[in-house]
Amino acid sequence: MMSLTHIAFGMAVTLSFRELESPLDFAFAISAGAVGSVLADIDVIKSNKRKDALLGQSVAAILLAFTVAANLLKDRTVIRQLTRHSAVTLVGSALFVIFCIIGVRSPHRGFTHSVVGMALFSAALYMIYPLFGVLCLYGYLSHILLDLFNKRGLRLFWPCKKRVCLGAYKVDGAADKVFRLLGFALSAAALIVRAYI
Ligand SMILES: [Zn+2]
Repeated sequence: MMSLTHIAFGMAVTLSFRELESPLDFAFAISAGAVGSVLADIDVIKSNKRKDALLGQSVAAILLAFTVAANLLKDRTVIRQLTRHSAVTLVGSALFVIFCIIGVRSPHRGFTHSVVGMALFSAALYMIYPLFGVLCLYGYLSHILLDLFNKRGLRLFWPCKKRVCLGAYKVDGAADKVFRLLGFALSAAALIVRAYI
C-alpha cells in the first residue's frame, strides 16, 4: 500500500476508537494514527518506494508537530506528561531510536512488519507518552492488516522466515487508490460523527 493510503486508514481507526472531546483530542488522534500507520515502512530502501515512504513520514511528522505546537499553546499537557516520569520517557526514547535503527537496517517487510516489531515500537512509544503509544498501535495494526492484502508477503511472525500474505492486489494498483479514497472517506465520516453526533 502507498503511504497516503496507510495514513488514511490509520486516521480512520484512531478517530473511530478513541473518546474525543476537544479539538486537541481530534488532532492527537489524527497525528498518532498517521505516525503509527507509517512507522513500519522505515524499512523501505528501493528508491521509488522510498520516496513514497518519505512523503508519508513527512506528512505524519507535520501533523504531529502541529498537534504538539497546539498543545504547547493551550495547556502543555504533553510537556507535563513527558517530564512526569522522565526516566521512563528517556528509556522509551532510547528504545524507540534503537528499534528505528534495527528497522532501517532490516529487509523490507521483515522486523517492522511483524507482531514483535509492532509490539516493541508501541511499547517504546507507550513509555514516552502512554496515550500516544496506544493510538499508534491502532495505526500500526491498520498498516500490517492492509499490507497483508498485498502480493508480497510479510514476515508477520519474525524472526520466523515464513512470509504471510493474502495476495489480493499490487502495492500501487487500482485497489490502492480505492482503499485510499475509502480510508479518507471513513476518516471524514468518523470526524463528523465524533464532532456532531
Ligand atoms: Zn508496509
